[in-house]
Amino acid sequence: MTEVKTAIVIGGGIAGPVAALALGRAGIEATVYERYQNTAEGLGGTLALAPNGVAALRVVGADEAVTSMATPISRQVMAVGGKRIALPGLAGAPPLRIVHRSDLYRVLQDRAVATGVAVEYGKRLVDAQETASGVTVRFADGSTASADILVGADGIRSTVRRLIDPNAPDPKFTGVLGFEAVARTEMDVEPGTITFAFGKRGYYLYWPEPGGGTRWGVNLPQERPMTIAEAREVPSADWMRTLRTTYGDDDPGRELMLTSSADELQVAGSLQIMPPVPHWHRGRLVLVGDAAHAPSNSSGQGASLAIESAVQLARCLRDVTDIPSAYAAFERLRRSRVEKIAARAARINHAKAPGAVARALMPLLMQLMMKTAMNPEKTIGPEQRYVIDWDAPVTAEPALR
Ligand SMILES: Cc1cc2nc3c(=O)[nH]c(=O)nc-3n(C[C@H](O)[C@H](O)[C@H](O)COP(=O)(O)OP(=O)(O)OC[C@H]3O[C@@H](n4cnc5c(N)ncnc54)[C@H](O)[C@@H]3O)c2cc1C
Repeated sequence: MTEVKTAIVIGGGIAGPVAALALGRAGIEATVYERYQNTAEGLGGTLALAPNGVAALRVVGADEAVTSMATPISRQVMAVGGKRIALPGLAGAPPLRIVHRSDLYRVLQDRAVATGVAVEYGKRLVDAQETASGVTVRFADGSTASADILVGADGIRSTVRRLIDPNAPDPKFTGVLGFEAVARTEMDVEPGTITFAFGKRGYYLYWPEPGGGTRWGVNLPQERPMTIAEAREVPSADWMRTLRTTYGDDDPGRELMLTSSADELQVAGSLQIMPPVPHWHRGRLVLVGDAAHAPSNSSGQGASLAIESAVQLARCLRDVTDIPSAYAAFERLRRSRVEKIAARAARINHAKAPGAVARALMPLLMQLMMKTAMNPEKTIGPEQRYVIDWDAPVTAEPALR
């Protein structure tokens, strides 16, 4: 057991509340600080939790609340040039769970509050200073807070990452912008089926929306990166026109775009990935979630890995006596897993990028997909079957797994 009794957790997204809950189970009192005033501010769209993410939520007692509001997806199909190829899943594995991002944040924060975690809103971290006995953080409103450790769960544009290492890399633009909406049209697919479609000019995916219609997401090729704020300054009707042109020659892309309303378009801005972050911790500061490892959205694992890391960090702090050794144990447990998953996703991502390069890479993508189709146990098995044994003790030199 470390000397750690209290923790400041920066970020009330996914990794933050889960870290606070898991730290609580490890006997460490955490307070979560979130920069926005409420949980749904600036948020939209859905994300898919993989079985490993849901398994990690079980450790903090949040799995049932999340699965009860989720849309289960148990069939995956890839569509290229009019051909539909069923991608076999893992035998006996639970479905993917699609949740609204704002609902997920709310449920996790509610669960944290119910177990006694304090969550403070409107607190944007701007600085942190280590003292002999702890760490003191300063917020944009001028207030401060102190604790034994600081956990940066502040997402892909993390401030804590910069405080740990001013030379840390920035996120990289993947060459696509994200959009999502629900089309009024119904597709002729079984409920619980998600289709990953490679259109003539861009990638998109869709699945039946419970209650009617078809929910879709697109990765719109775009040369220039755009922040979410910049992308939202463009009128939705203009984006809708661009999407109708881009997907106008695709079936069913064209129909999906034509039967969707610009008013309901969710604009996510540039999709980004984190290159490997050299330093995950320094002194009393440590990173979890996207702040440390944001794989491309092609992995379908960003949120699930964020949850896993939050739980594993708490296990390490529970069992390893000093903070640097606990953080080193945490990094040893996590780095190879998250970087392997990020590398697999990056290969798929290339094929979604626009232009001739992507077309040339299509055979590679097909090969990757076929490999998955032939042997899902080998490709996605280690990702999705991963279950954290909370009770297993962590030593300063844990075995890699
Ligand atoms: C369009 C899109 C689709 C995606 N789809 C999927 C998917 O299907 N499956 C999947 O697993 N993943 C998906 N992801 C990735 C997933 O969203 C992330 O991996 C996940 O949100 C990471 O959780 P996090 O808690 O680390 O960061 P976040 O969810 O980004 O939360 C960070 C929190 O920190 C707060 N914050 C930031 N800076 C500060 C500060 N200075 N002070 C205080 N608070 C701060 C933010 O406001 C935010 O609430 C998708 C991402 C995008 C963009």
